Amino acid sequence: MKKVYYNFLLLLVISLPIYAVKPLEQSALDTAAELRDKALKSDLAYQILESLTTEVGPRLAGSEGDVRAVAWAENKFTELKFDRVWKEPVTVTPWQRGVAAAEILKPFPQPLVISALGNSVGTPEEGIRAEIVHFATFADLQAAEAAEVKGKIVFISHKMAKTRDGSSYGRAVQARSQGAAVAGEKGAKAILIRSIGTDDDRLAHTGLMNYRENVNRIPAAALSSPDADLLLRQLQRGAVEVGLTMEASVAEPFTTYNVIGEIRGSERPDEVIIIGGHLDSWDLGTGAVDDGAGVAITMAAAKLIAEQQRPKRTIRVVLWAAEEVGLIGAKAYAEKYKAEMRQHITGAESDFGAGPIWSFDWRSAHDETPFIDQLAQLLAPLGIKKGHDKANGGPDLYPLRGLGMSTFALRQDGTDYFDLHHTANDTLDKVNPQHLQQNVAAYVVFAFAVANADGNFGFNLTY
Ligand SMILES: [Zn+2]
Repeated sequence: MKKVYYNFLLLLVISLPIYAVKPLEQSALDTAAELRDKALKSDLAYQILESLTTEVGPRLAGSEGDVRAVAWAENKFTELKFDRVWKEPVTVTPWQRGVAAAEILKPFPQPLVISALGNSVGTPEEGIRAEIVHFATFADLQAAEAAEVKGKIVFISHKMAKTRDGSSYGRAVQARSQGAAVAGEKGAKAILIRSIGTDDDRLAHTGLMNYRENVNRIPAAALSSPDADLLLRQLQRGAVEVGLTMEASVAEPFTTYNVIGEIRGSERPDEVIIIGGHLDSWDLGTGAVDDGAGVAITMAAAKLIAEQQRPKRTIRVVLWAAEEVGLIGAKAYAEKYKAEMRQHITGAESDFGAGPIWSFDWRSAHDETPFIDQLAQLLAPLGIKKGHDKANGGPDLYPLRGLGMSTFALRQDGTDYFDLHHTANDTLDKVNPQHLQQNVAAYVVFAFAVANADGNFGFNLTY
């Protein structure tokens, strides 16, 4: 009898879930719902985005536009009456695009629309002329014999598919990020890739590429999708020769900044919730969807919360520097705050455009079912469903996640995101103001809920 009782107790203990984060009280749930409904009527995020894209525009890290963006962000936080506003230095090596031009020389001469890839070297002044060697995919280039590639211009024609969650990007982007290193190692003179995008516009998509130590650095550019098709059609008729001229170069190291604004917590001001987007953009468009939208959504969300009710914990809006050129601001922040990670309770970055949010994910050291269910109920009227417990968190949170911080992900519909991504078409008119409101509504719910929840999501999350 005694043993049976003991076993029963043991079973009870091991089967009772441990909820480290306590469910929100009714008053906090009511406030979160009020905030959500208020955000759906607020045009603050759109005003912020209109201001950034009109008064600053392109803001490539280390450029004059970047300098103006930093000043804009400090002023905007101050104008919105954040409790604390400051900036933290980040060193970047500015890349300068210069002019890039390409043309088919043989068999049927025609100009090509291209864009130099970020970080690429330029060509010699007289340019490069060479025969094209075509690969359908990056993997095909990897598998090729050096003799096939040597002295030629590599062309990768792989076309990225449209997906809601952007999952096709990871595979497609290898051609951009690693293509030049692989082609350079095999002796290619340059590389042209089909733009990493999902549109049919005659616009090329830029984006970061990387070289490898001790490998010949060759110029790298993206073709617009219609130009990639043109090149393929000429290749069907025989050998194709292309001419390429690029002025790209790098300048001296330059100091830019993460710009930070805080709404201080009423009970535990030293514990912070991190939201934000990245302040830098590529230089071709005005950085409206990438990532002006994320900047605007999170600034507006924190401001609306401050107007409604001071949260228990501090909400820290970080406008990350130099994300596009390698998460430079995010890495600098993680280095600076690594000893204070336990005060970083959780966070989410908005960096996937301006489409509506359809799902949310989380990442905690414990099972937080009651709290997550409350969040799901608050977000359900916005058309947002519960996702999974391995939240990605957004690119600028990767270094913090690596240090063990909990993350959430409010996942936007990215079906059209890669039509515009890193192109001259990334402009304000592509942003739907209602979608922006829905995003802010989700962020006020998320940030207010996690800032007011008692208990912790845990630390040293190693999965
Ligand atoms: Zn981005």
